[in-house]
Amino acid sequence: MFAPTPELVDPWRAVEAGCDYSGSLPLARMARLQEALREALGEASFRLSFSRDLEGRGILRGEIDARLVLTCQRCLEAMEVPVSLSMVLALVSGLEEAGRLPEDLDPLLVTAEPLRLADLIEDELLLALPLIPRHEPGACPASHVLAAKGEERREEGSPCPFAILGELRRRGD
Ligand SMILES: [Zn+2]
Repeated sequence: MFAPTPELVDPWRAVEAGCDYSGSLPLARMARLQEALREALGEASFRLSFSRDLEGRGILRGEIDARLVLTCQRCLEAMEVPVSLSMVLALVSGLEEAGRLPEDLDPLLVTAEPLRLADLIEDELLLALPLIPRHEPGACPASHVLAAKGEERREEGSPCPFAILGELRRRGD
């Protein structure tokens, strides 16, 4: 069943009806994601399908595509990160139920509250963000400078305790 995407969905009713939603959401409307972005340009396109699996579980399958503009932590210039993710989530009503899921299913905790699809999409995009965004070494303007100082070799060679220490410091900044 195809329907225009509502803001709020009762997940169990969506499972019963086999609802299938697709559309796009402006990144500028995702406040939490925006904090991690250099520019909140463009949209995330999505498709979310509710169904029931053979074991009777409520399942939400989703695909989300977006181009995120982040700041490279090496050169501090903009970098575009294409994100294309797909997920299969099982609706659960508690942690105990989540613990019983097979490994290939991630839990989606649902309560009596309706599910806000935009929040779900934003959560998935946040999870997809790289921990330390960086250009590929060849594509990063700063890598030439670092290579001249011999820093690049240290980063790409076998990790020595000092390199790890440097990494930790950088993350702590
Ligand atoms: Zn860079």
